[in-house]
Amino acid sequence: MKLINLPDKTPAQEFESDTLVWTAGVQANPMIRSTDFPLEPRGRVRVLPDLRIAGDEGIIENAWAAGDIAAVPDLTGSGLPDGTCVPNAQHALRQAKRLAKNLWAARWEKPSRTTSTRTWAPSPDSANGKV
Ligand SMILES: Cc1cc2nc3c(=O)[nH]c(=O)nc-3n(C[C@H](O)[C@H](O)[C@H](O)COP(=O)(O)OP(=O)(O)OC[C@H]3O[C@@H](n4cnc5c(N)ncnc54)[C@H](O)[C@@H]3O)c2cc1C
Repeated sequence: MKLINLPDKTPAQEFESDTLVWTAGVQANPMIRSTDFPLEPRGRVRVLPDLRIAGDEGIIENAWAAGDIAAVPDLTGSGLPDGTCVPNAQHALRQAKRLAKNLWAARWEKPSRTTSTRTWAPSPDSANGKV
């Protein structure tokens, strides 16, 4: 196992190992903090289940978000303790598809729909695009 220092990618440490346990978390890209969008405590954009951005003042017109950057309500109730989706590729891919469909619906003034309520645990299948 080779470890590096992230800022300059210089070698940090090296050791033998058969098993790697990854415990790092996933966080929203910090660039979102330089916007005026409403954020929640984890630094993600607040969105409705149909991915429209909405703050205390209500919906922000023509503003949408999905994926790690967005705090999407998990309608199954099995997401994070705060009721939002776990930031993983399964959710991000499904949200991306829903976002595209909702943008198209909005373009033609049709109602938007919520993201899929199915919850998936990360699995090796995600690497093969099976979500
Ligand atoms: C090490 C690691 C392992 C993971 N393993 C799994 C796993 O096994 N299963 C699983 O389901 N999930 C896993 N995840 C989580 C998964 O990768 C993310 O949840 C998913 O990629 C989120 O997709 P996204 O499109 O929201 O963001 P991203 O995939 O991060 O895409 C964001 C894109 O925006 C680009 N970008 C950033 N800033 C700017 C800018 N200013 N201008 C233009 N473009 C910009 C980035 O370059 C990137 O291409 C893992 C994450 C990490 C870090």
